Amino acid sequence: MKAIRGATTVSADTPEEIRSAVKELLLAIQEQNKLSTEDILFILFSNTGDIRSLYPAKAAREAGFSGAALFSAAEPEIDGSLPLCIRVMLLVENCFNVQHVYLRGAANLRKDLKKFAVALDGPSGSGKSTIAKILAKEYNILYLDTGAMYRACALQALDDKIDLRDESSVEKMLGRMRLHIEYESGVQHTYLGGRDVSEEIRRPDVSMAASNISALRCVRLKMVDMQREIAGKMSCVLDGRDIGSYVLPNAEFKFYVTAAVAVRAKRRFDELKQKGYDVDLKTLEKEIEERDRNDASREFSPLVRAEDAVLVDTSDMTVEQVVAQIKSKIQEKV
Ligand code: C5P
Repeated sequence: MKAIRGATTVSADTPEEIRSAVKELLLAIQEQNKLSTEDILFILFSNTGDIRSLYPAKAAREAGFSGAALFSAAEPEIDGSLPLCIRVMLLVENCFNVQHVYLRGAANLRKDLKKFAVALDGPSGSGKSTIAKILAKEYNILYLDTGAMYRACALQALDDKIDLRDESSVEKMLGRMRLHIEYESGVQHTYLGGRDVSEEIRRPDVSMAASNISALRCVRLKMVDMQREIAGKMSCVLDGRDIGSYVLPNAEFKFYVTAAVAVRAKRRFDELKQKGYDVDLKTLEKEIEERDRNDASREFSPLVRAEDAVLVDTSDMTVEQVVAQIKSKIQEKV
């Protein structure tokens, strides 16, 4: 069981205002924490004494949160406290990544909860995803693997036998593709329709196809929209090629993670071998070089180090060293 906190304010002590503020707050908490109403066991409200016209607990019941035990209490007056403020604590099940939610005038109450994004860009095999997963866990924020999204587009195109150079067929495919990203116990799962393709998209043929399809403007525009929407809702670490330069140019922390081609090829080789794929190191090295070329030379939103991104060359570093370096750079900025 986890506790989630939140708060909001109303502009006047009227039942309509309280109803709408409570509903907005609870729905935001539910959405950001990916909760179903059954996951919410208990909702405790406390409100400042200037809110009298409707109990927030009653507003919550009216808004459909009737399965949970509900409780409202008025706070004693504290000098200088935020007026017309409703605070809430929810006890919930099935929540991996707790997001506290502070809305309206209450957004300033918890500056420490300010949303932030960590952009990790760099070429294939530089270790971005390993590092991103660790950072997400340590900061208790979401990890968005944007490469998985391009891989899913590629898989769909391969399944539909679409020529990747034919942009209009790819565009039609994007219209019918039902790509969505879900988080299960904090782990990203990539779905095409009802099918979980998280493993399939790691196939070597999908890697090459992803590198080709991701050069298409229509594909990037659609994926970037999805990425911005996810990052707009909560703090996250995103790994990709153009996160700091194009997707989130205002990301609070930007890193460009790279390593020598031979080192990256060996890492991919070990990873694929471990998954049971029969791969050849030299071929992988060539493929990585080709993907680098594709990524860096495409016209629209290429792989590039954003001017303000910190360069991290992981060739001779352990994962722990890379994570420590990135965390210390983040620490310097906060
Ligand atoms: O990172 P990963 O190898 O999974 O990415 C698969 C492909 O998707 C890359 O080769 C790259 O061409 C593309 N990609 C991209 N922009 C991103 C993430 C990945 O173009 N933000």
